[in-house]
Amino acid sequence: MTIGVVAATASGRTAATALQAAWPGEVRLLTEQKAADALREAWRTCDAVVSFLAVGATVRVLAPLLGHKTTDPAVVCVDESLAFAVAVLGGHHGANLLARRLTGVLGCTPVVTTASDQSNVAPLDSYGADLGFTVHNPELLAHVGAAVLSGEPVRLDGAAGWPLPPLPPNVSPEAPAGGHRILVTDQAELDCMCHDGWFGGALVYRPKSLVVGVGSARGVSADEVAGLVDEALFAGELAAASVRCLATADLKADEEGILQVARERGWPVVTHPAAALASVEVPNPSEVVRAEVGTPSVAEAAALLSSGGGALVVPKRKSANATVAIARLRPRGRLSIIGLGPGARDLLTPRAAGSLRRASVVVGLDQYVEQVRDLLRPGTRVLASGLGQEEERARTAVAEASAGHAVALVGSGDAGVYAMASPALEFAGADIDVEGVPGITAAVAAAGLLGAPLGHDHAYISLSDLHTPWEVIERRVTAAAEGDFTVCFYNPRSRARDWQLAKALSILAGHRPPETPVGYVRNAARTDEAVTLTTLAEFDPAPVDMFTVVVVGSSRSRTVAGRFVTPRGYRWA
Ligand code: SAH
Repeated sequence: MTIGVVAATASGRTAATALQAAWPGEVRLLTEQKAADALREAWRTCDAVVSFLAVGATVRVLAPLLGHKTTDPAVVCVDESLAFAVAVLGGHHGANLLARRLTGVLGCTPVVTTASDQSNVAPLDSYGADLGFTVHNPELLAHVGAAVLSGEPVRLDGAAGWPLPPLPPNVSPEAPAGGHRILVTDQAELDCMCHDGWFGGALVYRPKSLVVGVGSARGVSADEVAGLVDEALFAGELAAASVRCLATADLKADEEGILQVARERGWPVVTHPAAALASVEVPNPSEVVRAEVGTPSVAEAAALLSSGGGALVVPKRKSANATVAIARLRPRGRLSIIGLGPGARDLLTPRAAGSLRRASVVVGLDQYVEQVRDLLRPGTRVLASGLGQEEERARTAVAEASAGHAVALVGSGDAGVYAMASPALEFAGADIDVEGVPGITAAVAAAGLLGAPLGHDHAYISLSDLHTPWEVIERRVTAAAEGDFTVCFYNPRSRARDWQLAKALSILAGHRPPETPVGYVRNAARTDEAVTLTTLAEFDPAPVDMFTVVVVGSSRSRTVAGRFVTPRGYRWA
């Protein structure tokens, strides 16, 4: 992505330079020529424009150049005092995002005016775009979008099985037929359905759901392949806009006729080894083909293989030198395992917030879900449960993803540290996509408050003997003591487990001096955060509980000006 940056004043130029430093490789400075010329050039040559000019001036220059919002560059104006970044053009096509990104560098407040962003509803013009969805009849976007936002019933058909973002509750498959409608379909429109306009007035999305399998004799012409593909699409009453890729055998990876069709239509080509194709069961195998290429089917087998467990919708069709078959993809659900950080909202990463808003189902401990409920889009299904039901939560999240939903499994800190990621991935099969979104774990949050305790090798040890026998824990504490690691204790002490922490510290004390710093933080980054710094000799476990993380220094750690410091090395210590 290239961002053209236009500035005419000293303050604008300084900010432009700051942007270039912050986003190297992305920013193109246009600060030398006349502002109007610079704007026009940025518009012509860049994907997005940041204009340090007034909104009015920017609009006057660009107005004659406006085309369509899906193809025009996004434009954001930043005012002279760098107070506001205003998304002026292409809000849902990059400007809103860019306005928010500018906040990080310039400290300005983003100003976003597109309706769905204000109402927190997933915007229709990019609905499913990250899955490859395209809008078939964009002229209906404004009309149906207004119905969605105003709470009118909108019927949603064909979306099941796709991991789409949530839409508000007035949009549902149960809404009455005959009113507003959103339809996800790879079916071509038929004349008989057209008397009300496209698909009876529905806003239609084309999912990338079709895999076209192609086989051919050496030297087949592009015309022949294209003709056969079109014939197969027509026979299946399928839309070319829903074709995801062409699939064929490795042997055909350089077959110019096939490659040319793919290039012309903008379809990627996927190839498979003959042995893999031979293992696919197909309705129309051919012994002639097996003898030639080592698999009884290319078109049908390749289509099925690339469909991820989908089904054949158009069986093999033949011309003189080519074969074509079409399979419908089985969409893959997705599971995002999201760490929410220790508590404070500004320690929740922007990526975590984005992934939460992308999910249509959120699974987690009720207190963590509550912590982020305001971020969730309307229509998000929340499956919150109480303490101790970890396995059930993990199973629920995986089952929802396997059913095709976009699921967020949330946990505090990092969801992979003594948390939900492991049980979830122990249950998850290869049928779903998994995304891990890291969070700031308790030890790291605490370290920032204590000083620099993690400057050298360190170990995390959970003192909970719920899942791990105490002998194992003790052996690890001993090893960490002998290895001279700084140690972070999670789950340090509860009413039922009140002696383990003292025991662990006595083991460490056998290997490091009594003045070794011990820091502990209760409720790091939460309202009642409490930070304590003491030493091994003085440490009293009594105030430590399950909301606390305890950090014990190595033999080299020291307290400097009231801060816990572990030197970077041993050599100069
Ligand atoms: N996934 C979490 C850890 C879960 S284990 C993370 O990455 O932070 C639970 C233990 O983490 C608690 O007993 C406590 O030791 C520690 N912990 C979690 N959040 C904390 C916080 N905000 N302040 C201090 N300790 C915390």
